[in-house]
Amino acid sequence: GQDAIIETIDSDDIALRCHLLDMGLTPNTEITLIKKAPLGDPMEFRLRGYELTIRKENASKIKIKDIHNTDIKPRKHYGFHEVEHAQIGESKGNNKGKQKVKEKVTFALIGNQNSGKTTLFNKLTGSNQHVGNFPGVTIQKTTGIIKQDKNATIVDLPGIYSLSPYSNEEIITRDFLLNERPDGIINIIDATNIERNLFLTMQLIELNIPIVIALNMMDEVKENKESIDINGLEDTFKVPVIPISAYKNEGLDELIEHALNIAKNDERPYKLDFCKSDNSCAPVHRCIHSIMELIENHAQQINIPVRFASTKITEGDSLILEKLELDENEIKTINHLITEMTNETELDRYASICDMRYSFIEELCSKYV
Ligand code: GDP
Ligand code: MG
Repeated sequence: GQDAIIETIDSDDIALRCHLLDMGLTPNTEITLIKKAPLGDPMEFRLRGYELTIRKENASKIKIKDIHNTDIKPRKHYGFHEVEHAQIGESKGNNKGKQKVKEKVTFALIGNQNSGKTTLFNKLTGSNQHVGNFPGVTIQKTTGIIKQDKNATIVDLPGIYSLSPYSNEEIITRDFLLNERPDGIINIIDATNIERNLFLTMQLIELNIPIVIALNMMDEVKENKESIDINGLEDTFKVPVIPISAYKNEGLDELIEHALNIAKNDERPYKLDFCKSDNSCAPVHRCIHSIMELIENHAQQINIPVRFASTKITEGDSLILEKLELDENEIKTINHLITEMTNETELDRYASICDMRYSFIEELCSKYV
């Protein structure tokens, strides 16, 4: 029943540290202790509008300050408006126009664990599914044909929270996205836990692959007498956002209609870049854009979306860095840019990016959720 403010995640286990940050445990976030199991392990916390259960040992890595009686208040309302900032190397956005309409399309179904992926997959494909393993690993891959269009295939990928290289599932999913290049992404979101789910969405958008957001569990949102401004979300992300209930079979026709439309016409996200209206994340954006400019040719050569490559390098992703085959000077410049960023944010590189993403999402949710 007490609140505290997160100071840092203090662990030498990089995978654990990054996972906790991905889950929204960024510095200065308020966290509430809900309860402990009889022997104190695991512990349940509440933050960012969702419950997190973790082992005591992992919880001990979270350094907190300012412990106080719980004072959960309604979300603060920020003014919300678009801001201009450097767009060097930005995608040219929607490449609408001359190219041919695709006939056969493949979708990747991507979302957090328990967001309703399997439920949606089963509703969309009926019984036309095939279960296999990804080459070399025992993580399951299910593919199926969409009932409404026999030329449309959908692949159910492992549930993930981020596109970082610290778990097999995340690597498999991003390799699938980068190497197999699906024609579209259906990003399924648990609308009752929207803040944490949008953290993944922001990374998926950077891949510059046509994407629709399926806002699932809307039946629960309504039941809880909550509401989400769908137009507000669409306006912000500039991609289709379709409220659905996979479980109750609601909104699925509209979802498929939009998904087929963006994939067949190759309608990429119009915007890849999101910044808080007070521009407080400017140091992070400066770093990302400067690195984009530096690595653009390398990224194009190996066919990795440049925006995605840049944020991953900024986070400290060595797999992507190796693939780019940069020379010594380029790496030196990049390290210099990152040091400048971390000096300004007073956070480390991974936390700087997480903080930028979550700050944007907080502001968005305070307005539209
Ligand atoms: P996955 O881990 O992403 O594959 O999620 P599942 O499809 O296994 O769903 C997780 C849980 O959420 C299950 O208990 C589902 O019945 C439930 N669920 C899925 N979609 C909905 C929905 O639209 N509304 C509600 N209320 N529950 C849902
Ligand atoms: Mg599943």
